[in-house]
Amino acid sequence: MKVEKPAIFFDRDGVLNEDLGYVFEPKNFKWVIGAKEAIKFVNDLNFFVIVVTNQSGIARGYFSLADLDNLHQWMNIELQANNAKIDKFYFCPHYPDGVVEKYSFKCSCRKPKPGMILKAFEDWPIITSKSILIGDKKTDLDAAEAAGIQGHLYKEGNLLNFLKKILI
Ligand SMILES: [Mg+2]
Ligand SMILES: [Zn+2]
Repeated sequence: MKVEKPAIFFDRDGVLNEDLGYVFEPKNFKWVIGAKEAIKFVNDLNFFVIVVTNQSGIARGYFSLADLDNLHQWMNIELQANNAKIDKFYFCPHYPDGVVEKYSFKCSCRKPKPGMILKAFEDWPIITSKSILIGDKKTDLDAAEAAGIQGHLYKEGNLLNFLKKILI
């Protein structure tokens, strides 16, 4: 039997890493202060850690699916040093006005649409009533609301402290 537990959904750019614009390489990836510790904290609570991230850079032709996969694998390797891990990355590669035809359409996963969160609900035994999302934009909060979970707006400062204030 699968054990049900809540999930903390994190937006990526601007929450876990500094939003430098279309980040897809480790060399341009700068962890937000307290982000690794926040993930470890959620791991220790025995909640799911799920990333939901718009990555229209794929539709725009700035980087590939493989680049994104590599970066996300690298993130989890970095987290291993803290005994922390992200359980799952959901990303939206789409953008209606992109240049890569395959990904250039109006999808149901690009936030503020709730598609990525709803997919996570299908894939994992998540207690939705106790799950929350942390994002840095209104579109993140709108996606959370549309999925029926609480969204919290993070702007700056230590992410672990921010999360603790919400959860404790
Ligand atoms: Mg963001
Ligand atoms: Zn999408």
